[in-house]
Amino acid sequence: MLSVEQALEKILGYVDVLEAEPKPILDCLGQVLAEDVYSSVTIPPLDNSAMDGYAVRAEDTRGATEQTRKFLRVIDTVAAGSISEYEVEPGTTVRIMTGAPLPKGADSIVRFEDTDETQRKRISGEIGVLHEVELGRDIRRAGEDVTHGSLVLSKEIVIRPSEVGVLASLGCSEVKVIRRPVVAILATGNELVDIAQPLPKGKIYNSNSYSVAALVQRYGGIPRILGIALDSESSLVISLRKGLDADMLITTGGVSMGDYDVVKDVLVKQGEIAFWTVRMKPGKPLAFGIVKGIDEAGVTKNIPHLGLPGNPVSAMVTFELFARPAILKMLGKKNLTKPAIEAVIEEPITNSDGRRVFTRVVVEKRNGQYYARPTGPQGSGILTSMSLANGLAIVPEDKPGIEAGDVAQVLMLDWNEETG
Ligand code: AMP
Ligand code: MG
Repeated sequence: MLSVEQALEKILGYVDVLEAEPKPILDCLGQVLAEDVYSSVTIPPLDNSAMDGYAVRAEDTRGATEQTRKFLRVIDTVAAGSISEYEVEPGTTVRIMTGAPLPKGADSIVRFEDTDETQRKRISGEIGVLHEVELGRDIRRAGEDVTHGSLVLSKEIVIRPSEVGVLASLGCSEVKVIRRPVVAILATGNELVDIAQPLPKGKIYNSNSYSVAALVQRYGGIPRILGIALDSESSLVISLRKGLDADMLITTGGVSMGDYDVVKDVLVKQGEIAFWTVRMKPGKPLAFGIVKGIDEAGVTKNIPHLGLPGNPVSAMVTFELFARPAILKMLGKKNLTKPAIEAVIEEPITNSDGRRVFTRVVVEKRNGQYYARPTGPQGSGILTSMSLANGLAIVPEDKPGIEAGDVAQVLMLDWNEETG
């Protein structure tokens, strides 16, 4: 039996970072930048005012107090986006709004509230300064954010809203990012019915394709649902063909020991495949292999295929552990590990057969400490328990269990402290 780490290492060995493509900046959120971005502009382009007030020569305000005001002649008003044609000479000032370029001759800004502007009925030809200002006060310097020609964003960073904003500030409408992987998803099972259909007796709805597609989307991939294949070699072969131009193929079901678990028979014939039992619970049976596919240009390529177990909880948990890092690697991300915390386990969890147990738990923070409570019955078909949980508490393979009150690692499915 492989450990979780060994299985993951093998999978990641077959997965590569995808190519870069140019995209509009707003479509790049969460993707990895594939080029260094240099600035063709200076931000701010000119020295400008950080406040609404008066552009002055600081020395003209020396000694100003409420009692001994210094009066300056107002020669112009300048708003953001305009440039004053006047020069501030001794004894004069230009009324200035936030963001407006500093007029020639001025070296400081006196804020409106440090003048008698509000006490005057209207703005006449002069203004009284109530407090002296220090030289350079409330001026934003040209280039204090970005200088022309400088490296602003380095490749390999992940684009967040801040980077979208920075790119916009540089006037970049498009940028090169590692493209999103297309993940083809195929459910297998004679018992499965599509969610748009009525449910005949003895059948169940295909939930795996949807939970898996949602996970693909959450982690930055593009899901392509291929539908349901029957448990026969011919049905599976026909369905698989529809996914051969994807970057990764995920099947669910058909990888365990049952009579109708034909995924392995087909894949052994179609490509290279390894069947593993991974030392974990849920999710012991797992298939991984390479399917020969043909891309849009007609070139043969190797598509990694992950065969997840059919049980709905097992499919989701194995996805988190194996498919998520593979997708993140294809996206060019460096951090492939799921966020984990230490939490006090509130009810005992047993580990009966030496596998690594992932128990669905509700994590709450109380008085600065995380607590994790199992969601109840842990059958790997009980999908609603995944819905109740926000984390997976880990019992290591070499431990018989966790006592109530012990501290254990919890993989966070959602990083949301508000839950509960
Ligand atoms: P299998 O791995 O194919 O033996 O499936 C294990 C269990 O998961 C069986 O009870 C199946 O009915 C169930 N199952 C398999 N695929 C799906 C699916 N796509 N949606 C919901 N349940 C499924
Ligand atoms: Mg099946």
